[in-house]
Amino acid sequence: MTSSLASDAVLITPSAGIERTQHGWRAKCLQRLVRMDLPVPRSHAISSECVQQIATGHPPDEAMLARLLGEPDNVSTGAFGLISVRPSAVDPEWGGPGTVLNVGINHERHKALSKRIGQEAADALYLHFVQSYATHIARLDPDMFAQDGKGALAEALRSYADEMDEEFPQDPAVQLTEVLRSMARAWDGPTARLLRQAQGAPADAPLGLVVQDMALGMGPGFCGSGTIQFVDSVTGAPRITGRFRGQMQGSVRASDSETLFLTKDDRGPALEDAAPEVFADLVRSGVAARERLREEMQIEFVVNEGRVSIIDAVRLQRSSRASVRIAVALANDGVIPPEEAVMRVEPRALSDLLHHQVDPRAPRDLFARGINASPGAATGKIVFSAAAAQASAAQGEPCVLVRRETVPEDIRGMHASVAVLTERGGPTSHAAVIARGLGLPCIVGAIGISIDARARVLRAGHRSFREGDEITIDGTTGEVLAGAAEMLEPALDDSFAQLLQWADQFRQLDVRANADTPEDARTARMFNAQGIGLCRTEHMFFDADRLPAMREMIFADKPEDRRLALERILPMQRDDFADLFQIMAGLPVTIRLFDPPLHEFLPHDREGMRALAESLDMPLSDVVRRVDALSEFNPMLGLRGVRLGIVMPEIYEMQARAIFEATALASRQGDPVVPEIMIPLVSAMREVELVKNRVDSVAAEVRNKMRADFTYRLGVMVETPRAALRAGDIATHAAFLSFGTNDLTQMTYGLSRDDAGRFMGAYVNQGVYEEDPFHILDQEGVGELLMIGAERARAVSPDITLSVCGEHGGNPESIAFCHRAGFSYVSCSPFRVPVASLASAQESI
Ligand code: PEP
Ligand code: MG
Repeated sequence: MTSSLASDAVLITPSAGIERTQHGWRAKCLQRLVRMDLPVPRSHAISSECVQQIATGHPPDEAMLARLLGEPDNVSTGAFGLISVRPSAVDPEWGGPGTVLNVGINHERHKALSKRIGQEAADALYLHFVQSYATHIARLDPDMFAQDGKGALAEALRSYADEMDEEFPQDPAVQLTEVLRSMARAWDGPTARLLRQAQGAPADAPLGLVVQDMALGMGPGFCGSGTIQFVDSVTGAPRITGRFRGQMQGSVRASDSETLFLTKDDRGPALEDAAPEVFADLVRSGVAARERLREEMQIEFVVNEGRVSIIDAVRLQRSSRASVRIAVALANDGVIPPEEAVMRVEPRALSDLLHHQVDPRAPRDLFARGINASPGAATGKIVFSAAAAQASAAQGEPCVLVRRETVPEDIRGMHASVAVLTERGGPTSHAAVIARGLGLPCIVGAIGISIDARARVLRAGHRSFREGDEITIDGTTGEVLAGAAEMLEPALDDSFAQLLQWADQFRQLDVRANADTPEDARTARMFNAQGIGLCRTEHMFFDADRLPAMREMIFADKPEDRRLALERILPMQRDDFADLFQIMAGLPVTIRLFDPPLHEFLPHDREGMRALAESLDMPLSDVVRRVDALSEFNPMLGLRGVRLGIVMPEIYEMQARAIFEATALASRQGDPVVPEIMIPLVSAMREVELVKNRVDSVAAEVRNKMRADFTYRLGVMVETPRAALRAGDIATHAAFLSFGTNDLTQMTYGLSRDDAGRFMGAYVNQGVYEEDPFHILDQEGVGELLMIGAERARAVSPDITLSVCGEHGGNPESIAFCHRAGFSYVSCSPFRVPVASLASAQESI
């Protein structure tokens, strides 16, 4: 085989042709530092094609090696011709093989170094190189190279010779060739491939390499190495931190090495005091790097006899809250435009700022995991029932409600708790939806826990927890922790508000909130939602004082009895709507007519039935009979939504009356209100026609009775596949269509939204579904129904308003889909509004 030689190394100068795609981010970043005239040691960039050639058996040619190695007596950085080799992928997140330092050291240079920096330090440097070369490059057994202390260098050299049957290579060119070959090949290994693919890299992502003269952090005078950063990685607040170790080179330290804080610190000596000029140099370099690189950086530096060398700079790793603060500060300082600040923050990061978070630096005693159904973290004592939660709250004791799954009666308990944990359920289960609405951290479908509510024990593997034991719910990660974890406070600061304001300025797709209560509506307005896109009216009856009225209505088996119950409900609803209209001050409010899966309102046990019999003044046997009669095999596909409105028309009539009376009252007092009334679970055009006729006649009656003039918009929730397919005729009776993607996903897949959590993990792990479709909109299937529905509706009614109000409305990927489909808005839980606004803005920029 004729093996040609590889040759492509560019000296990094201000004008050299360095491309990120060809030479990687590190080479490009170093060139920027060189252009700023910062003291960067002589560096070369090796292109990815050349690295690829080296990996496939074409070693670097002599001329290239000579250029990389330079002149051995070129000792401006004090390192006697030693060099380092670092990876330089296109994206820093893609990682790369470990850096190799001090390439070129041999007996002769070791001797010269001993004279300059002392025998002990020179031995340590040489030893470190022999050990890392032997284990990482020659791939010898690391146990053979764990020498330490006196005589270790000689022993390591001997072990190498024994194992390899040849002396340790003395020619720097040979060492460098082997290092380059090993790094090039490591990049092609399966582990490296998997790791970078997990970070979003393509399988064939290229690797460049950077070869740099070593700057020596050991020797006479003030020497050492360290890192410096200018903001706090967790909070994003301006603060100089980092580390400096005197007499240290890479991970090799001399025996007189000393660690310094960077700035004045009561805990010990600081670089700022020990070497004020060095410190001032670093600060100057940091300020310049931030402006030129347009990013908050962490700088790696070496000091040799008081002279600073900047050897590397990497984008500062940061928490969610720091990412917001940094982006906004860069834009406020004019370093980047606001659009770029908006693009730089991961939308999901915003939800971390809205809630308490477990401090990423703190220890975690993890004992179970589940679906991260509602973000934020909270610590409380375990309670197993809503009543215990209320009792705990009454005593001012924070508690975590732990249930197999939640039902409407648990709402009071959820209100009284600081977090919720359920054994069952998925992202759109009752617990998940309600917790998101309340802004409570929540984990559902916790794998491997078992709850014995009677014995009041929660078990997870071999651990068990009793009522009153303290646990922490991390709803952001889905982790359940024993005990109280250290927390970070929410960070709704000026940076957060500024970023949201910019996002609102740039986005085209509006963001509304799913809000059922005045509190939800206020939260929605605080986050600048453009209205309410879904008010689930049945949720207005989950409160203890309301539930009996609702049950009475459901239990009435004669229309006259139902009418009586509805008369009780009407004023409550009118007040509810008037409150919402007032809080939303003229912004659109979409009220969905009742859609209660009946089972959610039925008592679940004998005790509940007895209580109901008492409150309805009915014999227990009648209650039992009625519960039996109303029980359905498949309540999610049963008498719910518009079907209830068709079979028992007086329910929707009452609601329409309450909406219109509230409209008339609110319009008298403030901005004119144009309510939006939405019909759920439609599957046929005739359903819409019937409801519309009745609502129209109620509107006429209220106009007459209250001498009021108002209009309203009637819309349809598209949440059955048939409604999407028949969107053309449905649109003839509707001013707007809102896709209820929770039910639409459930019905398209034939997958129960309450039960799918149990096996979703197995499905996603085996790649049956790429993602949980209740979490991220399935664009191929459910998305196609949305597109068909949109197209057919627009064909008959080009100006029809289209939107999504399922939980997907708060999910960035799904929002991107809605933006591309030209929808008018998405609607999501109030606490997800900032996330949705940012995601929507990013699609528009
Ligand atoms: C839906 O089905 O997407 C929806 C918003 O309605 P709900 O979650 O109340 O069924
Ligand atoms: Mg629905």
